[in-house]
Amino acid sequence: MSDSRQLIIDPNIQHAIAEFKLPDVLGFGKIMAPIMYEACYVNGQWEAGHLKPYGPITVDPCAKVFHYAHTLFEGMKAYRVPTQQTMLFRPLKNWERMVASGKRLCMPEIPQDVFMEGVNAVASYCTPFIPERSGQALYLRPFMFGTEATLGLGVSNSYRYVVVSSPCDVYHTGTIRLLIEREEIRAAGLLGSAKVGSNYAASTFSTTRAKDLGFDQPLWLDPYTRLNIEELSGMNFFAVIDGVLHTPALSGSFLPGITRDSVISLGRSLGFDVVERVMPVETLLRDIQRGRCTEAFASGTAAVICAISEICERNGTVLSLNEAPGHVAQRIRQGLLDIQEGRQEDTFGWLTQVPLESSY
Ligand SMILES: *Cc1c(COP(=O)(O)O)cnc(C)c1O
Repeated sequence: MSDSRQLIIDPNIQHAIAEFKLPDVLGFGKIMAPIMYEACYVNGQWEAGHLKPYGPITVDPCAKVFHYAHTLFEGMKAYRVPTQQTMLFRPLKNWERMVASGKRLCMPEIPQDVFMEGVNAVASYCTPFIPERSGQALYLRPFMFGTEATLGLGVSNSYRYVVVSSPCDVYHTGTIRLLIEREEIRAAGLLGSAKVGSNYAASTFSTTRAKDLGFDQPLWLDPYTRLNIEELSGMNFFAVIDGVLHTPALSGSFLPGITRDSVISLGRSLGFDVVERVMPVETLLRDIQRGRCTEAFASGTAAVICAISEICERNGTVLSLNEAPGHVAQRIRQGLLDIQEGRQEDTFGWLTQVPLESSY
């Protein structure tokens, strides 16, 4: 790993920063911060990274990303912890997952210093635009895509790594209603554990159909037997059964969420038993009917913890959980936010400081 990387800073960013005003209403992923990062991989090497004003980028129309979905992404948040600096939550987990996603697409491994240079530089320069109310943060979206301009099928020989960011509110407020998806699958087998664009393309049809029927999201079952619960379209699944937290064991066909991993550790530290196991959907439905399953919730960077109020079938069957977030979901959510927002000591070592802008 080189420590000789030189970040090239476009002087126009000062103007872009001075012009930007943080609006009162943020939503999720709608407002883009005025600075972005871009680095190219050419001839087997990562070139110097550029920090520049946010705006359109130039990509050849024949680039593999447009035709064959050679693209992957990460999602992470920077928090402005009171009295301290800007902090990232477990950023090396995102790097590890980006590398793992890249392997599935035969992309070159992005070096840790390149990944972190982009994330740190954007978070550092965008620190003035990190909103400060609890639940708000700067959502960072690092992504990488194949740029080789040839139409043949195959692995790209050149890539671009870009980091954009968005001052945001939490993704979902309130509870969500899920429709069990018994026909379609979210992702093609083991590609499901990679955060790659094609998986979201594959789930668009079902998601739209679920929304048209009045639900928030599909609840995805495993692609092989379609018997076991896997996850939601961008969040992992948890249920509270007889007071114990249950979540599907990683199967290789759904996304290993960093929030999921954090909920497991935090849950145990708060005194809950946590079980990772195969979760047949029929068993869960029975547990809800019998009153043994008292809560279900979803976890993810964007939404943190989102309570599930109903799990439904296409034939009209509705299994109701709490209308309001249950007490386990609330405790976990508060515990996570307290660490992320600096109210609680970070005993897990999950927070990483972003370098000050003056250090660039
Ligand atoms: C990103 C994502 C998650 C959540 O992962 P986190 O690391 O917790 O943000 C879960 N499922 C899918 C399909 C995702 O894309």
